[in-house]
Amino acid sequence: MYLRCMKFGTKALHAGVHPDPTTGAIMTPIYQTSTYVQSGPGQHKGYEYSRTHNPTRTQLQDQLAALENAKYGLCFSTGLGAIDAVCKLFAPGDEIIATNDLYGGTFRIFTKMYQPFGIKFKFVDMTKPELVEAAITDKTKLLWAETPTNPTLKIIDIAAMSAVAKKHNLLLAVDNTFASPYLQNPMDQGADIIMHSITKYIAGHSDVVMGALIVNDDELKTRLEFIQNSSGATPGPMDCFLALRGIKTLHIRMQRHCENGAKIARYLKDHPKVGQVFWPGFTDHPNHEVAKKQMRDFGGMISFELKEDSVEAAMKLASSTHLFACAESLGGVESLLGHPASMTHAAIPKAEREKAGLRDSLIRLSVGIEDVDDLIADLEQAIG
Ligand SMILES: *Cc1c(COP(=O)(O)O)cnc(C)c1O
Repeated sequence: MYLRCMKFGTKALHAGVHPDPTTGAIMTPIYQTSTYVQSGPGQHKGYEYSRTHNPTRTQLQDQLAALENAKYGLCFSTGLGAIDAVCKLFAPGDEIIATNDLYGGTFRIFTKMYQPFGIKFKFVDMTKPELVEAAITDKTKLLWAETPTNPTLKIIDIAAMSAVAKKHNLLLAVDNTFASPYLQNPMDQGADIIMHSITKYIAGHSDVVMGALIVNDDELKTRLEFIQNSSGATPGPMDCFLALRGIKTLHIRMQRHCENGAKIARYLKDHPKVGQVFWPGFTDHPNHEVAKKQMRDFGGMISFELKEDSVEAAMKLASSTHLFACAESLGGVESLLGHPASMTHAAIPKAEREKAGLRDSLIRLSVGIEDVDDLIADLEQAIG
């Protein structure tokens, strides 16, 4: 069941999920089972083995599809497990064009796992569709966009990428992790595949690692489901339950992430020791109009440089906050802070990092849902 007419906050609670058919339990039970008893060989109720199907996972998959206004959701043990499944749609000789300002783990699986198998990757600035067009050859099969980008928060025009993909008969995949389905629904802008690290905003409580793919096309769903079952990177029912519980407050959490994010971005912009602040809500952000067009709000992810642009200055700041915990990941209720050059993006060579505008002092904030006055006071004492 997916009901396009419901508003997001209602869908977060009701779409795709239903009370347990055997007991009426309002919360989806954790079906902690590996197998299902058949009344005779091949006579089962749609569930045979939990790698293939599990009722807790089914509910989560249906709900994710509903939140993205799509038909099918497929869950994976991690976000990278989901990306791995997309790569397996392709064969040696195929080419994939991806965002240059990319999540470090995505860059690593592309270049270190699949490039040696013969898939070719090109990394381009997708805020400029003409650069994407120029990189396309007759071998190109997929455009991989991540928006907002990580960590410099550029915004890629999904509808423009979809137009390029359709013109050249390519698939468009969008990593929607940073925005979450609350802020942006790439399928509505013409994407063919949406990828989520559920680990981040969707589960939202820093207690589960999981990924998902969302598609509309029947054939694509069948192929990805085959990969999901054959490669076996599927999540367990307990983790699916945690993600389902997290989703019930996704809209409320996102509202607060956005509110706090806006206040902190403006505070940083006025700070004498802070250099450039990256946040798509600023009217002078180069992609602000695109953000306004395709997102409901501007999110809680902010990056900023220090005027003293050195690894040492960034390290000092990152070690002196009390509320912003220095950690990888993002999108949880607690505020986190990271230094991409030495943490999440350490896998990307310095030359590549700098090409994508990622300087040594860049600090990335995942603004949580604490009281914003306390968060600002924490930054104030740490920046000094
Ligand atoms: C975290 C993340 C991933 C990878 O997801 P995991 O759940 O950590 O495997 C992919 N893309 C983005 C944008 C992410 O933030």
